[in-house]
Amino acid sequence: MQAAEKMSTDPQVKDMKDIVALCKRRGFIFPASDIYGGINGFWDFGPLGIELKNNIRDLWWKAMVITPPIGPDGHPLQIVGLDSALVQNPKAWVASGHVGGFSDPMVDCRETKKRYRQDHLVVLYPNDPQYEFGLSFHEEAEEVEIKQRFKKFKLSFEDGYIKKSLTEVPTENYIYVIGPDAKEPGTLTEPKEFNLMFETYVGATQSEDSKAYLRPETAQGIFLNYKNVLDSSRVKMPFGIAQVGKAFRNEVNPRNFIFRSREFEQMEMEWFCHPSEAKKWREFWIEERKKWWMSLGMSESALILREHDKDELSHYAKAGEGTIDIEFQFPFTYPGFGELEGIAHRCDFDLTQHQEHSGQKLEYIDPERDNERYIPHVIEPAAGLTRGMLAVLCEAYTVDPDRPSGVYLNFHPKVAPKKAAILPLTAKDGHPEKAEQLYMELREHFPVDLDIKQNIGKRYARQDEIGTPYCFTIDGQTMEDGTITVRERNTMAQERISMDNALAYLREKIG
Ligand code: ATP
Repeated sequence: MQAAEKMSTDPQVKDMKDIVALCKRRGFIFPASDIYGGINGFWDFGPLGIELKNNIRDLWWKAMVITPPIGPDGHPLQIVGLDSALVQNPKAWVASGHVGGFSDPMVDCRETKKRYRQDHLVVLYPNDPQYEFGLSFHEEAEEVEIKQRFKKFKLSFEDGYIKKSLTEVPTENYIYVIGPDAKEPGTLTEPKEFNLMFETYVGATQSEDSKAYLRPETAQGIFLNYKNVLDSSRVKMPFGIAQVGKAFRNEVNPRNFIFRSREFEQMEMEWFCHPSEAKKWREFWIEERKKWWMSLGMSESALILREHDKDELSHYAKAGEGTIDIEFQFPFTYPGFGELEGIAHRCDFDLTQHQEHSGQKLEYIDPERDNERYIPHVIEPAAGLTRGMLAVLCEAYTVDPDRPSGVYLNFHPKVAPKKAAILPLTAKDGHPEKAEQLYMELREHFPVDLDIKQNIGKRYARQDEIGTPYCFTIDGQTMEDGTITVRERNTMAQERISMDNALAYLREKIG
């Protein structure tokens, strides 16, 4: 039994195809412009998807802005919110390093015309001196695909191979590399920079002077308003500014459903502090952020903390005190992990850049430190909201051959789009009226679903697939003694409670 349970929640047996299909079937996520065949890298959130996303967003906002954590001194931290524009003065993106710097080296394949991110390709060299060329693969390629391609090129996979990232292969040796979809070696071009920012024009004329960008991250809007916030609110160092919102990146290879899309949402907080305290706060936020993901129901074994390697360090990060990623074991990265959130020590990079480029003084005069003047250091927990939502969906997706739907979403009640469903057993005998009465009472307190039509088994199956923790059923006995059935999602166990106690029951179970 235990083994079976383990199997059913093991990411290995979670097939992304099934998760994507469930998301569409039940109204979580649709391809954008679906009726026109979609548009690569863009997604729409359906009736349940928007509820799930809002729940995660609201829990983040609560944890950051409404009830920020208690700091090491035993007092609550100060964090305020912000909602900055998607389009800012283009000079801001020059200062931040995004114009000019925000690009991924890309390689094109002359044979297949496909384009790849250089750091996303690996080259496998057969472990046999007879062969001097290697096959390249996407870093997420599965073993079956690798084996098949080895066989196709009449190479022995079983004798082993040497694996290198394409970034480690000198470009003059590309003549020995066979592109991931190519038949001949030597078709990959030298890496070229590719800017990820979407460009637009502001106003009636389209010229270099009216060129602007859709923001590629929410963080810069915070730095641009650092002075406004300081001047208009009562915050003192250390403090944070938090923002949730859309970001746009013209990703070369959008993939893995909403994991890497071209329009996505971020939840970012910039924590400003005295430079001497940055290290301490970095540790603090790493701990807090991991706890927060677990509070959404993510299991500890599915999360890891990964310190960035030297070559991944951002332009602003300090070696040894750089970025740590919180990573989740997605079905498509299994047995590896994929980034959910990065916690970076940005030093004073951004504010110094904006001070230089704007000519505005961004120093802080610290009354607690003898009016010392300094540019604060910044610790930035930067999380993906849409990517986080995918992690929550993958974690919750549970295969269970013992129930009619064959699967259920084991959402933590906090994130579940609907906390309970009210289901009249039949569409007659006063059941629907009684159900509506209960629905009207509960909906004032919890998001609940009233579902009247179809046989009860199908309705339970639907609620299982949308992850509703409790179903309340109104039946003949309700009309006699005022009791209803409660069905618990995970165990499918049923008990009878008084309909008058339904609200108290939900409050006790869900809070
Ligand atoms: P990656 O290495 O995956 O490209 P990143 O390190 O560039 O991500 P950040 O700039 O640190 O990402 O952004 C913070 C968070 O925003 C990421 O941890 C991720 O959750 C989310 N994110 C970044 N790019 C995308 C994207 N294209 N689609 C969805 N979410 C994204």
